[in-house]
Amino acid sequence: MREALRLAALLLALACAPALAAPGPNALELRLLELDSQSYNDPTRALRALREMRARHAGDAALQRRIDFSIGRAEALSGSRDAAATIAQALDKDQAPELAELLRAEIEDRRGSAARAGEHAQRALAQLNPACQRPTPPALVQQGCDWRASWHALRLIQRSQLASGELAFAEASARQALELARLSLPARQQSQALMSMSVVAARQNQGEQAHDWLAQAQPLAGGDPLLMARLRMFEATLVPRTDGGVRQLRLLDEALELAQQAEAPRDAAQIRSNLVDAYMHLGRPREAIEQARLALPVLQSYGDQRLERTLRHNLSVALVLLRQFDAARREIALVEQLREGSGNLSQRAVQLRELGEAYARAGQHKEALRLYHEERGVNEELNARTRQAALRQLAHKYDSGARERDLELLRRDEALKDQQLNNRQLARSVGIGLAVLLGLSLLLVVVMLGRVREANRRLKAKQALLRAQSERDPLTDLANRRHFLGVMEQRMQGRFDGALMMVDIDHFKHINDRQGHAAGDAVICEVARRLRTAVRDEDLVVRWGGEEFLIFITGVGNDALAQLAQRVLQAIGGTPVATEAGPLRVTASIGFAHFPLPPAQIALHWEQAVNWADMALYTAKSRGRNRAVGIGLVAAEDAQALLQIEADFENACSNERVQLLTVQGPEPAAA
Ligand code: GH3
Ligand code: MG
Ligand code: MG
Repeated sequence: MREALRLAALLLALACAPALAAPGPNALELRLLELDSQSYNDPTRALRALREMRARHAGDAALQRRIDFSIGRAEALSGSRDAAATIAQALDKDQAPELAELLRAEIEDRRGSAARAGEHAQRALAQLNPACQRPTPPALVQQGCDWRASWHALRLIQRSQLASGELAFAEASARQALELARLSLPARQQSQALMSMSVVAARQNQGEQAHDWLAQAQPLAGGDPLLMARLRMFEATLVPRTDGGVRQLRLLDEALELAQQAEAPRDAAQIRSNLVDAYMHLGRPREAIEQARLALPVLQSYGDQRLERTLRHNLSVALVLLRQFDAARREIALVEQLREGSGNLSQRAVQLRELGEAYARAGQHKEALRLYHEERGVNEELNARTRQAALRQLAHKYDSGARERDLELLRRDEALKDQQLNNRQLARSVGIGLAVLLGLSLLLVVVMLGRVREANRRLKAKQALLRAQSERDPLTDLANRRHFLGVMEQRMQGRFDGALMMVDIDHFKHINDRQGHAAGDAVICEVARRLRTAVRDEDLVVRWGGEEFLIFITGVGNDALAQLAQRVLQAIGGTPVATEAGPLRVTASIGFAHFPLPPAQIALHWEQAVNWADMALYTAKSRGRNRAVGIGLVAAEDAQALLQIEADFENACSNERVQLLTVQGPEPAAA
């Protein structure tokens, strides 16, 4: 029946086509799409062509609005954001609010404000013809639906979702853009949509899938040098740096040559920005700086604050490595200015980490430590957002047992809430019954109250069960942070007593990148198991974060604690971990301390104790990893002095106000 209706609609559309559609609107729209692409590298030429086109079609108001959007977009891409904003205002007055919103999205995107760009683009998409949101057969898409605007909107939305770490949503938007491109757009856009899929897959740590999307994009690029340049550039980001970066450099050089051949200066500058990053990782900061100096004026000439921000960040890292700290600070300040209100948390986390590592390599441990703490804060916020987004998508994306359990928990939670509601209603009807049938229904009331009580008892039991489940980490079955918090609140009011050991797997990101996320999960599980067996039953092992564990130990002295650290290092690093990808050598770094801190035994809160263990962990990381660093004697007479030491831990260690103990991890086992 539905098929028959659709066929009838199609036939009707075909029959009416000559009457409804002016001859060749498609050719014009395709030309506009081409000019939209051209605007990226050569906005001046695109603007000239667009204005000529506008003059030729002076009579067609609807078409003129669409051309005006493209003009505004080209202005935004050339850095004339004011001119673009004026056009957006005119479009609003001209009854094209969706195009006005979309143009504002483009403006924000170039200013580097991904979040705001995403909001505008979402509003634009919602107002566009609904047919555009789920493309129907091409014959119908041609009429009414502004698929060009939908295409731009979806790409901006996807970009903002990537920036805020909402990966599952970004994937959905990229897929929608791909679907649209496949149904209605030329090969060029299809190829671009496939590249976006690859970028999203890469961000989700699905390296193979990312390669696969690029392989599909390649034939659609049709040998176009600009598209080939972008393909090479994306491919370069997927290459692991195991061969010392040789292959990555070669791909980026090829990309640069292709971009130059295509006379695409903006793309070339973006590729140079990636080269800066590659050279830095190869330990060649001078070449990095040279590339940055070449790219910077180009990006500035486009007023492209988004790319300029990335480039300046890369430049600042190179300057730190060259120990030009003043120049680096200036660049960092500029990056912060350009970041103003961008909302791009994931980029900020990566940048803080890269800077921190550079400062650590340059021996500036104090600055490195500060950046490390800042990065943790950003990462926590980012993780929270990713988790929230993933939760919202949970209903569509169940592919693993752990997630299945999450869903089950949610369902039970929902069921409990329903039940709670029912119980309340039940109690209310009891009240009404009492008033009306006071004398007669006493017996009935007793029965019903009994039921309410029984239901509440069951509810409480279920809630207790749920609480117990919500305090376990589903992957490792260890206690989670929430559980630890509960224990602390119950047992450590005011003063923390006992020992803490913060354990963090070394270079875990490499395991994910090289062996895949599943192998990463297996390693986390195995490390959790080894930790459990290395400590006593009464010690509490907590999954603190991704690949970070916290152990809470009571009733041990300082000597026994160092021995325990040794045992934990041995348990993790002594034997390779078996994964589907083969045996892997895994090591960890540890920070540990015994509280209250000797010799003054000043009382401190448990959160402060965790911070001390964390500072020791960071010291273990910065001194080469695969080791444990413990806090020995601390020269502080009172709480104030303790806080001062915390504020400048690195210094306190070098002045020997804090004495550290180091326990070395096991040598690599012979394979
Ligand atoms: P370092 O030696 O300095 O500790 O480096 P690292 O790579 O271990 O540290 P980083 O904190 O940068 O990386 C942790 C990574 O762990 C990032 C995140 O994607 C990954 N991760 C977090 N939770 C999980 C998880 O549950 N499973 C997997 N497979 N990876 C996870
Ligand atoms: Mg780690
Ligand atoms: Mg970590």
